[in-house]
Amino acid sequence: MKANVYERMAKGAAQLMPLFPYDYPGSIVPCGNVLIGGRDQSYGQFYHWNTVSEVVVCYGAHNSPLAPAQIIATKNLHGVNSRLADETDPDACAVIVVTQHQAEDGHQTEAMIARCANCKNELIRHEYDSSPPKDEDGTVVHQFPTTVGSAQFADLHNVVGGGLCPHCGHDNGGFPVAAWGWHRQVRQTDATNRAYRALKDSGPAA
Ligand SMILES: [Zn+2]
Repeated sequence: MKANVYERMAKGAAQLMPLFPYDYPGSIVPCGNVLIGGRDQSYGQFYHWNTVSEVVVCYGAHNSPLAPAQIIATKNLHGVNSRLADETDPDACAVIVVTQHQAEDGHQTEAMIARCANCKNELIRHEYDSSPPKDEDGTVVHQFPTTVGSAQFADLHNVVGGGLCPHCGHDNGGFPVAAWGWHRQVRQTDATNRAYRALKDSGPAA
């Protein structure tokens, strides 16, 4: 199977969108991202911890510290942001592929962490099981565990009032969920599975 990252990210719903349907233990999972500047745009900053390795490849960028074709091997705990030098520049953009190598034994853990922008105190730590879904889970399209965990992290941040730092009192504000699109991807994946089951349950054609 071939996939064109430019074509996929022109129409994708979320950052970190798997470009291929393969997510079994040991598989290589390239995930597309398209970051776009705008007058009121903000992606925020968070930290991602992953038991498996990730490699970042820049497929092109403008007004970004990333150079086109630059490759970065990230540490297991790494900061995540838009990689745009100025998010409020409407001309700023980047197409980036983050590739995970799924654990051979099928067991993975990840965490999403928010820190205070003022004092770096840890505000939210959402740790989750990111082991690849089993084939027999009854879905036609698997949820991507990292996206589900990321959406849960954003909910914790915004619903529990995670923006207010108990250490220094700085108000970090809400997490910019729309820019990352995780909820939309989770809901679309759920809806496509429910639609598929509805078709299957409708019985044989008359
Ligand atoms: Zn603080």
